[in-house]
Amino acid sequence: MAKGSYEKAIVSLQKLLSEKEELKSVVAERIDEITAELQMTSCKSFDPVQRIKTGFYYFKTEIYDKNPELFEKLKKGQDPKFLVFACSDSRVSPSHVLNFQLGEAFMLRNIANMVPPYDKTKYSGVGAVIEYIVHLKVENILIIGHSACGGINALMELLEDCSESTDFIEDWVKIGLPAKAKVLAEHGDKTFEEQVKYCEKEAVNVSLANLLTYPFVSDALVNKTSALKGGYYDFMKGRFELWGLNFGLSDPCYI
Ligand SMILES: [Zn+2]
Repeated sequence: MAKGSYEKAIVSLQKLLSEKEELKSVVAERIDEITAELQMTSCKSFDPVQRIKTGFYYFKTEIYDKNPELFEKLKKGQDPKFLVFACSDSRVSPSHVLNFQLGEAFMLRNIANMVPPYDKTKYSGVGAVIEYIVHLKVENILIIGHSACGGINALMELLEDCSESTDFIEDWVKIGLPAKAKVLAEHGDKTFEEQVKYCEKEAVNVSLANLLTYPFVSDALVNKTSALKGGYYDFMKGRFELWGLNFGLSDPCYI
């Protein structure tokens, strides 16, 4: 029984109690029972420590203990086939959406899955990830945009003068300004919601282009040791779109 239902039940019992004197003891007993149940329900509210314990228990018994070969291999090192950029949004984890197993994908998640242009001081955190993984000779770099992205929404809502009301978010999403400009130029007649959707994909293309500003990425592309791919996960429709960048965007395929 939901909390609201308990409260309604207590109120109706109290009303009954006030109207019928002879039911007083029975009703009072029932109110005590309901109150006790309500307290138990409150105690069963989300327990983060328990959630972490049960989560790890599941992983340990169902995955770690059942895949000794994989974990023996991982103890020796990693050889991921993908570097994945994805949004921090809790609904779009690539490990779930693309079923990546441990050791398969090196990941960097941030607001709106942005790759900033090469900048040794401003974006050293992102640069360090790209440099490290390209030197590991990762074969595929994949940037995944997604539906209903709050970061892209913030980018599209940015005021014309780019004045900021947040400490970090607006400055960060400005990496996608070229995407916003393209969407406004090509889809200025569309609704805001439609423009956001276009921008969710276009921002992936801006990030793909920004990757080329990292010398170790462009070298890897020229030497054909790495390939760049753009993706879009639409969790409204349960669809995934994939396209490539081979010195020019290829036609997308839908999965
Ligand atoms: Zn997002």
